Amino acid sequence: MQVHRISALSDNYIFLLHDPEKNIAAVVDPAQAEPVLHYLNNLKAELVAIFNTHHHADHVGGNQQLMQHFPSLCVYGGAEDQGRIPGQKVLLQEGDQVEFAGRVGQVYFVPGHTRAHIAYYFPPLTNDTPGELFCGDTLFAGGCGRLFEGTPAQMVNSLSKIRALPDHTRVWCAHEYTLNNLKFALSVDYDNSDLQSRYHQVEAARQIGKATVPSLLGSEKHTNPFLRWDTPSLQLAMGSNDPVTVFARLRGKKDLF
Ligand code: ZN
Ligand code: FE
Repeated sequence: MQVHRISALSDNYIFLLHDPEKNIAAVVDPAQAEPVLHYLNNLKAELVAIFNTHHHADHVGGNQQLMQHFPSLCVYGGAEDQGRIPGQKVLLQEGDQVEFAGRVGQVYFVPGHTRAHIAYYFPPLTNDTPGELFCGDTLFAGGCGRLFEGTPAQMVNSLSKIRALPDHTRVWCAHEYTLNNLKFALSVDYDNSDLQSRYHQVEAARQIGKATVPSLLGSEKHTNPFLRWDTPSLQLAMGSNDPVTVFARLRGKKDLF
C-alpha cells in the first residue's frame, strides 16, 4: 500500500492509498473531488473506497462527485456520523476493521473534535516498515483539533489511544498547521530541546514550501504538548497535575494563540 499526499483547499491534505498490483485506490477525507480525479487519472487507477474520519465539509466535500465518477465505490465513516457523511454506506465503531491492498485498518473511536470522529490505523506489515495512522483533525503535527463537539476529558481519552501506538507510526493528519502549532508549543514548553530542534526543521521546510505531514508519532510524543499532559514541566506551566486540567488549559490557551 502506497500513501500519496494530495493538497486541497488552503491547507488540507487528502491521502490516496494505492494498491499498485490491482491498480485500485482509496482516499482518506476528500475535501475536494478534482485533485483526486486528477491524481487517479495519472495513475489510471480506479477508486474503490472513501475513508472519512468525520463529517466536516473540508473532509467530505468531494464525496458526492467521486461517487458519481465511481458508482460502485464504498464510503466508510463513524457510526455516530450517520446522516452527516454524504454517501456513507458503512457505519464503523471502535474495534472494527477495514481492508485495503492486503492491509487491515483498525478503527479507533476518537471523539473530541467532533462527537463521532474516528481514526484508521494500519499496523506495519514487517518490523522495518512504519504503521500508518489517519487521524483527521484529532491529532495534528505539533497540535490537536479544536473541541467543537467534545470535552477535554473525551479528547484526552482519544489522544491516549493514539499515544499508545508505536513510535514508528506515520501520522497522516489532515492539515498543514505544523509551524503555527510548534510556535504555540514553544510558548508553553520552551526548555524542550527536542521541540526547539523540531521547530527549526519545520521552519526551514516551510520556507521552501515543503510539507511537514506525515510526522512520526515518536516525535509527537516528545514535542506535541497535547500528548504531554503528564510531563512535569508542562504540568508546572499549567498549574495542575491532573491530565484533563492540563489538557484543557493548554487547549484554552491555544484557542486564543
Ligand atoms: Zn474538522
Ligand atoms: Fe479539517
